[in-house]
Amino acid sequence: MSWFMMSRSFQRLAMAGVLAGAGLVLAMGPAEAGNKPAKTVPVRLLSLNDFHGNLEPPTGSSGRMVDENGATVEAGGAAYVATHLKQLSDNNTLKVAQGDLIGATPLISAAYHDEPSVEFLGKLGVTASAVGNHEFDEGYAELRRIMRGGCHPVDGCSPAGEWKGADYSYLGANVIFKRPDASAEKEALAALGGQNTSSLRGLLREYGIPALPPVTVRWVNGVPIGFIGLVTQSTPNIVTSEGIKDLEFIDEVKAANVASKLLKLVGVKAQVVLVHEGDQVTAGQSPDACSAQPGTGNRIATQVDAEIDMILSGHSHQAYLCTVPDPKGGARLYSQGGSFGRVITKVDFQVDVRTRDVVRSSVVADNQVVTRTVIPDPDISTFVQTWKDRVAPVANKPIGRITADITNTGSPSGESSLGNLIADGQLAATKTGGNAQVALMNPGGVRTGLTYAGSPAGEGDGVVTYGEAFTVQPFNNLMQVVTLTGAQLKTVLEQQFTGGPNAQPFTKILQPSSNLTYTYSTGAAWGSKVSNLKIDGVDVTDGQSIRVAANNFLVGGGDAFLAFKDSTDLWSGPLDIDAFAAHFAANPSITPPVPNHITVVP
Ligand SMILES: [Zn+2]
Repeated sequence: MSWFMMSRSFQRLAMAGVLAGAGLVLAMGPAEAGNKPAKTVPVRLLSLNDFHGNLEPPTGSSGRMVDENGATVEAGGAAYVATHLKQLSDNNTLKVAQGDLIGATPLISAAYHDEPSVEFLGKLGVTASAVGNHEFDEGYAELRRIMRGGCHPVDGCSPAGEWKGADYSYLGANVIFKRPDASAEKEALAALGGQNTSSLRGLLREYGIPALPPVTVRWVNGVPIGFIGLVTQSTPNIVTSEGIKDLEFIDEVKAANVASKLLKLVGVKAQVVLVHEGDQVTAGQSPDACSAQPGTGNRIATQVDAEIDMILSGHSHQAYLCTVPDPKGGARLYSQGGSFGRVITKVDFQVDVRTRDVVRSSVVADNQVVTRTVIPDPDISTFVQTWKDRVAPVANKPIGRITADITNTGSPSGESSLGNLIADGQLAATKTGGNAQVALMNPGGVRTGLTYAGSPAGEGDGVVTYGEAFTVQPFNNLMQVVTLTGAQLKTVLEQQFTGGPNAQPFTKILQPSSNLTYTYSTGAAWGSKVSNLKIDGVDVTDGQSIRVAANNFLVGGGDAFLAFKDSTDLWSGPLDIDAFAAHFAANPSITPPVPNHITVVP
């Protein structure tokens, strides 16, 4: 690991310290000669979170938002984000973000390893962002390439040419190396030019050597604003393990407190946490309401050092503006701005030019819905159209062939031919590495069928294109494998039905791999509906251990399949779309599977 990024970061910090020591701050500010400087100066932050590459306006429920008046409106789309940001920007503005800007993206972005999205955010003027868990979807090495530039090691350069790197800083104070290079600390200290070495050495030893810049400083109106980036410490559970094997994701609060001290050490007292972690809200609330139910995000927002002035959050895709107490009882902002570019969080505050700290009582926040009633930014519209045109051939690339339509409509048992095919592909993709024995796919994740005629090209020869496969599996979920006991697997299958303690709103039949068979009784009481459970034709016993493949959504207890949460020995593997495409590559001509693995009895 080169210290390139870290060095730059520390040098900037050292510079901030030097300027503080020399009393040059005000002289550098906008207080022109002869004028008495104002006691406070205004700062505006405009922030986005969980953009997830939505360059085109997101559709369906992903493209709607409840506004301040309680009305549900269409929201999001890069060109609309750009227009709204321009309207909200003034000379005091810094644009920041809270991660998951990339990863789990539509094909227009995903096909180019999200370079188009990162370029777009740079065009907007975003200056710093926390990394989100999805920034690690393709591994740490790929994240560094996105940050620093260069062509993709396997897929080469995009049609736009060599990637120039992100125009903004990705921050991750709680991402540290498991086994730092022996010279890393020495290099970090050298980067400071001999300043504050003992204090800094102490700080570095307190929590390890960061794998990403932990903090960055930006100047507005002659005052430095320090940003601390944090990502959910649950990241290792929700991204592919191989890509982050050298990294440790430590407690967000502990890391934030060290980063806060680091900023204070160089005289930066206006401190903002950008954190990719958040809470859930009551549905249907105004984006300006504080209906967040105190959870993991609230813990961070209330527990990080009182020197930190506000916490802008992400990850849970919710919109809220809360005032929470800091450890010294002071009030501070804890906010989030939805997802997919549907909301911009605007934060206005004053910084005292003498103390260089945020005047807490001056903080005013507003979540602005990115409506589509404004004129879309023409430059960004052109930019998005360029990538739409570029991705068309990628979408039309053949990945395999089917001999007939493969539908996602359920047979009487609820099992579909396409669900079955996807589960078979998931099993095949997770046997090596994850030791999977069976696979289960959530039916809601099979978005559409595959037709022999093909779409949208309509080839009519059974060819399946990457675009078609991506439309079926658009979520970029991660394949995982966990161990369930036979009894737990039966519980998972019972949880498919309404009437149980998990309160399934309607029956959701998990799509099984072809080697999993069972019977369910429509008339039997909840808890004893499933019988005759077999894997590869062999009866499953309650006590046996079974390696079950499923996507990270199900493994996390999604769709009320809570029994997955009792699983052990989690392994994370490829993206679901990659597993699906690989199945076509391995089986070039696919006959629709017969969905006959589940038997229904009265
Ligand atoms: Zn996230």
